[in-house]
Amino acid sequence: SPTEKWLEKDRQYVSDALKIRFYPLAVKSGKGVVLRDFENNEYIDISAGWAVANIGYGHEKMASALQEQYKTLSFSSNITIPDNQMIQLSEKLAGMLPGEFKKKVWYGLTGSDANDCIAKLIPISAKRPRMISFMGSYHGQTMGSLSLSGHTAQARFVSGANVVKVPYPNPYRPPFGRMENLTQQVIDYIENEMFTTICPPESTAGIIIEAIQSDGGVIVPPDDFLPELRKLCDRHGIYLIVDEVKVGMGRTGKWFAFEHSGIEVDAVSLGKPLGGGVPISAVIARKEILDCGNALHLFTSSGNPISTKAALTNLSIIEEERLIGNVIEQGEYFKKQLFDLQTKHEIIGDVRGKGLALGVELVEDRVTKKPASEKTAAVCYRAFELGLLVFYVGVHSNVIEVTPPLIINRKEIDIAVAILDQAMADVER
Ligand code: PMP
Repeated sequence: SPTEKWLEKDRQYVSDALKIRFYPLAVKSGKGVVLRDFENNEYIDISAGWAVANIGYGHEKMASALQEQYKTLSFSSNITIPDNQMIQLSEKLAGMLPGEFKKKVWYGLTGSDANDCIAKLIPISAKRPRMISFMGSYHGQTMGSLSLSGHTAQARFVSGANVVKVPYPNPYRPPFGRMENLTQQVIDYIENEMFTTICPPESTAGIIIEAIQSDGGVIVPPDDFLPELRKLCDRHGIYLIVDEVKVGMGRTGKWFAFEHSGIEVDAVSLGKPLGGGVPISAVIARKEILDCGNALHLFTSSGNPISTKAALTNLSIIEEERLIGNVIEQGEYFKKQLFDLQTKHEIIGDVRGKGLALGVELVEDRVTKKPASEKTAAVCYRAFELGLLVFYVGVHSNVIEVTPPLIINRKEIDIAVAILDQAMADVER
């Protein structure tokens, strides 16, 4: 078949270093929440290509904005000659970060380089060498962002000597075995164990955290965790950085996922959906952080006019189409449907998430919570055969991640849930 021919060439010419193939699919086109293969089979995509296609595929307004921008100014290396799209976007993004302090914006091309910006500039700005991050976190695959990560990919490289990893407050699998005072257990671990031993606060520059640990398994910390972490940082003069690459830009029902906790942060990293499908990443941070030195972290195409135009257009689409309102409405509906599935399928141990950043954790046994990793892969594969694109995440590879385009409607959710229902029934049988 034509799809199989493309896959054969994919196996022959494309590096395995950039591959995770869940099932034998290659795509030809996409519109809205639907992707098509080369036989014109249609698939509803509730991954949104790892949370990138938030405005859906093939948005007309984006298509014409990009065409117009290419004709007006196709490129400027903004590290030497700035163009007005980048400046406009910077003003807009700086205005979005909560807090009454001076803010600036940095640009890259993918989430990893934004977190590299954090890994490099936070220690320089703070004049302290160490960083703290969380086990299970995913901040990227470039060496700096990889050093910050606490995911299995990190374990394959020797990197991150100055980064200390601490447990993430996972309510379904509490790191210290007890659910009571989960927040305080982790805060105490940092303050009473880490600070008094290998990571003294006076040599700690920053703590970086995902407000929801997404690739780590869609883990939502207790509501009081970020506020308590903010207080801990304030007690010791440590920067708090939130990685919003995956769950930022409206996915949880607010622009930034950390905003649910009402705190202010010193820096956020953005990527994935920022450009509505066109690669661009950014860091929005306190001026003092992003101005700690000249030319410390720049790429030839940083802030290029196509990417920044895409981000500006993406922001206006989210506002005009009231997509954050849709996230709140459809997110609640989707979650409720998943809870209903849990009553039918013994294999579903937990359903969780905020807005349209949802996770379904599959277990062999609801009491022992033994991860049902193989069955999770089988459910995703079966869903693909039935016309639904969905992937799994988590350190045990047993969490189905639901991050659909923010434009998804009730009818599409009903189809997606019906397919998941069928796929689970087929795998359990
Ligand atoms: N941060 C988070 C929270 C992510 O989920 C990811 C990608 N999954 C990254 C950073 C890295 O982004 P990219 O793959 O675009 O470099």
